[in-house]
Amino acid sequence: MSINKVAIITGSSRGIGAEVAKLFAENGYAVCINYISNDLAAEKIKSEILQKGGRCISVKADVSNSSDVIRLFTTVDLELGPVSVLVNNAGILKTQCRLEEITEARFIEVLKTNVMSCFLCSKEAVKRMSTKNGGAGGTIVNVSSGASKSGSPNEYIDYAASKGAVDTLTRGLALEVAAEGIRVNAVRPGLIYTEMHASGGEPNRVERLKSKIPLQRGGDPKEVAEAIFWLATEKSSFVTGGFIDPAGGL
Ligand code: NAP
Repeated sequence: MSINKVAIITGSSRGIGAEVAKLFAENGYAVCINYISNDLAAEKIKSEILQKGGRCISVKADVSNSSDVIRLFTTVDLELGPVSVLVNNAGILKTQCRLEEITEARFIEVLKTNVMSCFLCSKEAVKRMSTKNGGAGGTIVNVSSGASKSGSPNEYIDYAASKGAVDTLTRGLALEVAAEGIRVNAVRPGLIYTEMHASGGEPNRVERLKSKIPLQRGGDPKEVAEAIFWLATEKSSFVTGGFIDPAGGL
């Protein structure tokens, strides 16, 4: 059990993030649930954690917006204490289409939500965690996607490109802060059963594509949460700048 450790999980009202929040709470971490609009979903996860005796707050904040991110981190400083784990999980995708149909506004929104959020949250985390700044160290786990390697042709090249940027950010930041007590790693999930696929216009996308997955099935968000948890904790103490692909072999 990790007494006095604090984890911020962005986008944790639903899907993968919600499972990550529950797993950290079960392992003794004080958890900050973050979300952008779904109050009901965030409240449900928070009460589940509190009912089991965990420590948990929820902060509604758009992590692609710098003033929201600063408010998120200062709230955690005041209510839970110094952050030791940041999971950059919040992410979006838009309706499946070819590149010609992607608007400039959509491309910017996807990049802001999926990449700028990692940059802004990591910046606040490093300020607090770095031993160079008097911090106690910590870990950052970015939630990228198998799309960073496949490129998602005919579906969402904008989303895939944003995850490529997350991979590069992971590697660069890991090397930049390695000597300051901070490890930075990423997971690149494959097809996971969450509501995200409905945003792409195909709620049953995992069912349609599961026969193409070597393990012949889609992934459970809990299976991704386990990989994130491992990367965030002492179990992976010699791993930084690395990637785990919970993708069934894809
Ligand atoms: P999801 O079920 O759609 O949940 C998305 C979460 O992100 C929600 O909690 C949502 O909050 C939050 N969110 C969205 N924009 C936000 C913002 N600007 N600020 C704060 N929170 C925001 O998604 P998921 O499938 O669990 O995906 C989680 C991560 O895994 C994403 O980065 C995604 O790209 C990645 N991933 C997913 C899959 C997959 O197959 N599902 C595969 C590869 C990678 P609200 O509830 O308030 O809307």
